[in-house]
Amino acid sequence: MNKILLGCVADDFTGATDLASTLVKAGMRTVQLLGVPRPDMAVPDADCVIVALKSRSNPAPEAVAASLAALDWLRRAGAQQFYFKYCSTFDSTDKGNIGPVADALCDALGTDFTVFNPAFPTNKRTVYQGYLFVGDVLLSESSMRHHPLTPMTDASLVRVLGRQTPRKVGLVPHATVAKGAEAIRAAIAQLKRDGCGHAVLDAIGDADLLVLGEACADMRLVTGGSGMAMGLPANFVRQGLLTPGQAIRLPAVSGHAAVLAGSCSAATQGQVALMKQTHDAWEIDPVAIADGRDVAGEALAWAAPKLGDRPILIYSTGSPEQVSAVQSRLGREHAGALVEETLSKIAKGLVTRGVRRLVVAGGETSGAIVGALGVEGLQIGAEIDPGVPWTASLDEPRLALALKSGNFGTPDFFTKAFAKYG
Ligand code: ADP
Repeated sequence: MNKILLGCVADDFTGATDLASTLVKAGMRTVQLLGVPRPDMAVPDADCVIVALKSRSNPAPEAVAASLAALDWLRRAGAQQFYFKYCSTFDSTDKGNIGPVADALCDALGTDFTVFNPAFPTNKRTVYQGYLFVGDVLLSESSMRHHPLTPMTDASLVRVLGRQTPRKVGLVPHATVAKGAEAIRAAIAQLKRDGCGHAVLDAIGDADLLVLGEACADMRLVTGGSGMAMGLPANFVRQGLLTPGQAIRLPAVSGHAAVLAGSCSAATQGQVALMKQTHDAWEIDPVAIADGRDVAGEALAWAAPKLGDRPILIYSTGSPEQVSAVQSRLGREHAGALVEETLSKIAKGLVTRGVRRLVVAGGETSGAIVGALGVEGLQIGAEIDPGVPWTASLDEPRLALALKSGNFGTPDFFTKAFAKYG
């Protein structure tokens, strides 16, 4: 039976992919599972499994229950160390879910201590003296203070976490981190003697993250953004459990190619506009869907004779003016749901017609489409652009999927992606 080294629970889908990319770059063969795996699901042949939940904004008890169910599966898959992944802006409220989930995972694993570090220096998220910075401003002065679900109005992670947990929260400051792994371990031992159950860790650059990872080699549970995981694979190499520098290649996938865009973000608009100039493209009209027309059927009839190696594009992407006109007529949520449902039907129809290589633009759109396709898990491959790896579905028929968050990728992303599969 396969056994994994690192078992991760991520509180959202794109965050899980971000973590997966980080671990693949550090040499771990990584699989991302979508939702709590079936108890009888075979353990994939991988070094790391990430269970992607949608638990960031759920009521805390629901997030805890889903996280514990994921942990249970990962333990049975043989994981030696566990990781809880949340957003690099520590998205949470006083009710949770970061504190309650971390506490529950600690209890289940029988450990009385874990660490917290959302830093992601490449994306300008740094932690200094326990304060989280976004670019050159405090978290509480960034746009995150206006977030609709998890407004972050306090940049002190020690305080924010302290309101979410009964455990005492300490800090390992940058001055200690800069002294190296041994100093960090000594500081953690002191915090434990002082009665702390949690510690926020400072990190202002990738070198800090690597040394923090080293210091956490023996910790049963580590929590953080994707950055905090950077230093963990090297521990497994040092322990002789992971082959260094192994080439991570996805299985070959052959079949027709297509791009489905349901994002209206600025980057996707540019990508759609560029691809339309040189490739066959079909635009979805949300109002036609609302009027009861079989838009998915029409799109598939249009696509069928064009399918082949050269990707076609089907998109609902509109300008802000087009989107607000549609939303004022149909309502924001209804419009979104109609478009997601139609794109999902189209994705299923395309796969039935032999499409096996698919680029999808939009976070919600991607979630809806992989759900409709019944994809249970993804093997993670090389990055196409920062934050967007190629993936291969574990299930049959094997699909090559690139799931792009709306604002990611260069203008030629849709066409260059296909040449980069592997
Ligand atoms: P992003 O990653 O850019 O945020 P998402 O897929 O997460 O993209 O969200 C885009 C949302 O907008 C989806 O719910 C989608 O169905 C909806 N949508 C797409 N096209 C249109 C449109 N033309 N009018 C209104 N809503 C749309």
